[in-house]
Amino acid sequence: MSDPTNTVPTEFDITIIGGGLVGATLACALADASSKANQDLNIAIIDPHDLSGIKPLTAADDFDVRVSAITRASQHIFEAIGVWPSMVKQRVSPFRQMHVWEEAGNSEIHFDSAVLSESQLGHIIENSVMLSSLYDKLRQLSNVHLLFGEPCKSMQLDNDQWQLVVADKKLSTKLLVGADGSQSWVRRQLGITTRGWDYNHTALVTTVKTEASHQETAWQRFLATGPLAFLPLTKGYSSIVWSTQPELAAALQAMPEEAFKAELEQAFESRLGSILEVGKRACFPLRFFMADSYIGDSVALVGDAAHTMHPLAGQGVNLGLLDAASLAQVIEQALVSGQRLNSHKVLRQYERWRKAENASMLVMVDQIQRLFGTGHTGLRWLRNTGMRWFEQMSPLKHQIIDYAMGLHGDLPRIAKPDEMQASTGEAVIER
Ligand SMILES: Cc1cc2nc3c(=O)[nH]c(=O)nc-3n(C[C@H](O)[C@H](O)[C@H](O)COP(=O)(O)OP(=O)(O)OC[C@H]3O[C@@H](n4cnc5c(N)ncnc54)[C@H](O)[C@@H]3O)c2cc1C
Repeated sequence: MSDPTNTVPTEFDITIIGGGLVGATLACALADASSKANQDLNIAIIDPHDLSGIKPLTAADDFDVRVSAITRASQHIFEAIGVWPSMVKQRVSPFRQMHVWEEAGNSEIHFDSAVLSESQLGHIIENSVMLSSLYDKLRQLSNVHLLFGEPCKSMQLDNDQWQLVVADKKLSTKLLVGADGSQSWVRRQLGITTRGWDYNHTALVTTVKTEASHQETAWQRFLATGPLAFLPLTKGYSSIVWSTQPELAAALQAMPEEAFKAELEQAFESRLGSILEVGKRACFPLRFFMADSYIGDSVALVGDAAHTMHPLAGQGVNLGLLDAASLAQVIEQALVSGQRLNSHKVLRQYERWRKAENASMLVMVDQIQRLFGTGHTGLRWLRNTGMRWFEQMSPLKHQIIDYAMGLHGDLPRIAKPDEMQASTGEAVIER
């Protein structure tokens, strides 16, 4: 187990299992919350991978094959915890428009930030850019300990405290947070059940350079076999997320480069001209689920450990970041008001808040996947007519774009635009 500080304590206030985007963001937000509440919480992150070793990218580095569409709400969170400037310094790619159309019809939906008086709809950011910025910040915080290189082997509740074993070390913590992804070890140890299903879809991801400019636009074509997205990166490159049947994804991954380019051009109707370059290809199986509970005794789940969805709307990590910001806010409020941070009342506030908010987005994205995933003639007609009608409906488009930018719903304070934070004037929301 490595700890760059070499002074690993054994007693923590909060231990986060899983240091991915959500776990690392939570640690930053908790560190801020504890200093706002004038308390020095001792926080640990445990992960079998040495995530703190991820180096910031330079202009000469290849693109990370894993990227995320980051909403305005998530940008506000990154700004509030002080990691956004480091991401911008590496590279972030704004998208100002979105084009959505389908193989089986002639209608198209177009969103334009200019029409909405917005400078952009969101950003496409490489996951390693976000992680390196988060860990750059976390390494500077003396009360956050990075316990990397070994997974947690056991967790046992003893007198309101979790006793953990990591490598050959025994640790104890008041609150345990499972941020350990869709296969969450913490969730399974607690026996928390999930509701969901496999989509029988695999997402093939890669980076391409196209002949024509992407025009800072996120493009998505719904094929009969699943959605294909081109997401704009810098220097004329685009990130591809091609969700399709597992056998087809495996064949596309194994195919020689020239054959793959031809398949991709055809699937995308060559909207951006020829494909000039292709990077390495990787595949990810896709699932949908919601955990039946987000909390247990002195435990909370955040991010993919609590919910996982199809990437077609680019919302998975954005919901996870909102979980992280909400949990930090509820804990800050507990500290200020002298409550125990691991009390059932405090954790229940978090669960009630995020379960309701996440469910509406998860269900909406699942419905879109089902609507576009059917070849039924009647539904195809309805879909086409619906898309034409929707394209004319400015108020409805505004509402959907608010959802897509993450600005809809009951947001945690640090996810709100400055003007909303100022107008509500709230220090901490009482829930
Ligand atoms: C192809 C694809 C495209 C996507 N695009 C988008 C997008 O555009 N926008 C968006 O919002 N979302 C997107 N998503 C979803 C997004 O990637 C996930 O929601 C996000 O990565 C979840 O982050 P997380 O930190 O919760 O979990 P993870 O990223 O899975 O991190 C979990 C961490 O826990 C660690 N861990 C696992 N087990 C243990 C253990 N036993 N002990 C300790 N640590 C452990 C792992 O090493 C890992 O570091 C996409 C997903 C896919 C598959």
